[in-house]
Amino acid sequence: MRIGYGFDIHKLAEGRKFILGGVDIPFEKGLLGHSDADVLLHAITDALLGALALGDIGQHFPDTDPLYKNADSKVLLKHCYKLVTDKGYMLSNLDATVVAERPKLMPVLPEIRKVIAGLLEVDVSQVSVKATTSEKMGFVGREEGVSATAVVLLEEQSNG
Ligand code: MG
Repeated sequence: MRIGYGFDIHKLAEGRKFILGGVDIPFEKGLLGHSDADVLLHAITDALLGALALGDIGQHFPDTDPLYKNADSKVLLKHCYKLVTDKGYMLSNLDATVVAERPKLMPVLPEIRKVIAGLLEVDVSQVSVKATTSEKMGFVGREEGVSATAVVLLEEQSNG
């Protein structure tokens, strides 16, 4: 077994899509970044890389590389999960929390879980995504940004 932890923050800005967990959520602002700035998928990707000490998302996809401008974070996640499965590991489960003051995320959590489970080819019961606010405190509370954390457990597959 290997455990991994990921953390990410992105700024909220006007004129950007709010994409979270691969789902385009209608909101007046969106997350700002070199890629599509999907803070949740970035935290999960970093957790997967971290579990096998494979570095971090910034090393694999430098934000100075024009190739990753507006990159779809679903593709980045799948790429990193392939590194994991190539090393003979599979996701046992993941647990993530998004901290956002707005929009209300509860209604979209089931869809987000389904999308992530699809990307990682696991059952939705292996994917937990939770949401909380920051009680109006700090940068999240002022709606300047959104953060996410994720923990993953990987299990090495026996070769029969
Ligand atoms: Mg990020």
